[in-house]
Amino acid sequence: MEQRRKIRRPPTGRRLRTGAARRPGDGWEAPPPRQRLFDRRRARRRRRGRRLLALVVFLLALAGVWRLSAWAAEGVQALLEPPPVSRPVSSAPSSVPNSAPAAESWELTLVNAKHPLPGDWQVQPVEVKGGQRVDERILPALQQLFDAARAEGLYPVVASGYRTSEEQRQIMEDKVAAYQREGYPELLARQAAAQWVAQPGTSEHELGLAVDINPDETMGTGQELYDWLLAHAWEYGFIKRYPADKVDITGISNEPWHYRYVGQEAARAITEQGLCLEEYPGQA
Ligand SMILES: [Zn+2]
Repeated sequence: MEQRRKIRRPPTGRRLRTGAARRPGDGWEAPPPRQRLFDRRRARRRRRGRRLLALVVFLLALAGVWRLSAWAAEGVQALLEPPPVSRPVSSAPSSVPNSAPAAESWELTLVNAKHPLPGDWQVQPVEVKGGQRVDERILPALQQLFDAARAEGLYPVVASGYRTSEEQRQIMEDKVAAYQREGYPELLARQAAAQWVAQPGTSEHELGLAVDINPDETMGTGQELYDWLLAHAWEYGFIKRYPADKVDITGISNEPWHYRYVGQEAARAITEQGLCLEEYPGQA
């Protein structure tokens, strides 16, 4: 039976790598073929192990970063949201679809504190007299509404139309700053501002389908115009979006100037039945 040869290490303590150096006589003796095969396999296993370990560490780090950023986002969200007690109780379902696709019927898209602007919402802003913008889809109806008002001796102007999310954010920040100037600490200033200004991403103005209509300051009075709008806006497809008797549902104070385009059919039904958009069939 053949004696197993003893393997001697190279003098440096490290096995030399080049084939040229691997010759008997310089302190290194080639291991038998079976032993070399075993060594190679063991090295391969070690390399594979190290790669697997690196991959696991990388995946764990990735999961950690993702979790941390999610927590940070939740923290910011909680900070920006007013406490539940300061907001009127809503009867709408509590599910909050985040960045849901746009409603099938674009003019009925619901946007409020519980229903953020659809992630795929598209606006084609067009400028109206006075410099404000609206989505071009409502321009013909808005023009007819204003023409009819003028025919009655009223002078409506669009005081606020389409806003980008950045503009909505700025309006919120301005309101918070105004409260802070009155002496409110920041957190209370944010809560107070949230009673009047919608959080960015939850304002109807970001749809481009809502307008704040006020009288031209030099002509006519607000009440006269608001009364006429209340009686006739539906004929042109617009509804008073935040009625005084629906504050508990809309979560927004009575706004006699804020009108929303929903199309003629829906505007007629909503007005005749005394509903708000949240109550209209098909709305969540
Ligand atoms: Zn408004």
